[in-house]
Amino acid sequence: MTKLVIGHFYPDLLNLYGDRGNVLALYKRAAGRGFDVEIRQISVGDEINPESLDICFLGGGQDSEQNIMKDDLVNVKGRIIKDMIEDGKVFLTICGGYQMLGKYYKEHDGKMLKCLGAIDYYTEAEKERFINDTIYELELPSGEKVRIVGFENHSGRTYLGKGVEPFMKVITGHGNNGRDGYEGMRYKNAFGTYSHGSLLPKNPEITDMLIELALKKRLGEDYKLPVLDDSTERKARELALSYIENGKEQMI
Ligand code: GLN
Repeated sequence: MTKLVIGHFYPDLLNLYGDRGNVLALYKRAAGRGFDVEIRQISVGDEINPESLDICFLGGGQDSEQNIMKDDLVNVKGRIIKDMIEDGKVFLTICGGYQMLGKYYKEHDGKMLKCLGAIDYYTEAEKERFINDTIYELELPSGEKVRIVGFENHSGRTYLGKGVEPFMKVITGHGNNGRDGYEGMRYKNAFGTYSHGSLLPKNPEITDMLIELALKKRLGEDYKLPVLDDSTERKARELALSYIENGKEQMI
């Protein structure tokens, strides 16, 4: 049986707004197809074996938590993580975790937090926080466009550099910086987004895309993920969309 290992980085520090739900969604939709899935928790001081990891996940955290894990990320695990990203390993990073793979995060009082610099983008915080339910448009590898529902809560504004693509387009909400209409980033198979814990549970296309990318790396580029029923996840999204479009909080 093919094994799929999800590395959940800094789960004790980067864990806002149910971000663990994303890891559970990856687990459920891979295990539901018969894969043997392991979730490995990796925090400050833990060693990583890059060969054994298929999907790496970093959640969101407050500025104070980002300050705690940054030395371990930048000075201890940094070289290995940069090599994994260049090698096309699948990463999903959320909010604080997303910011930490870029060049730097400047807090709104001007304090500089040097980040990993694995990918060309930077983040500068402003006083006003962006806190709201969000709707984005994602173009799937097939060319089909889907509406993605999410929730954002951040003061950082992220600006993408050369060779880094936006992940999605903003329909409702602020996304990367509230100015350019884009949300998140994609570089090779590394993704960043400001959307928190309900991103994958309510948007199965993204979950499946990440699992398929990871399995292509393990089993060959021609690998196609078998279809798995996603009617419950889609129903949750439709309900959330209907709440947001009617000016209410999505509540689920
Ligand atoms: N500290 C960051 C910000 O406010 C990240 C917050 C988060 O992960 N929700 O921009």
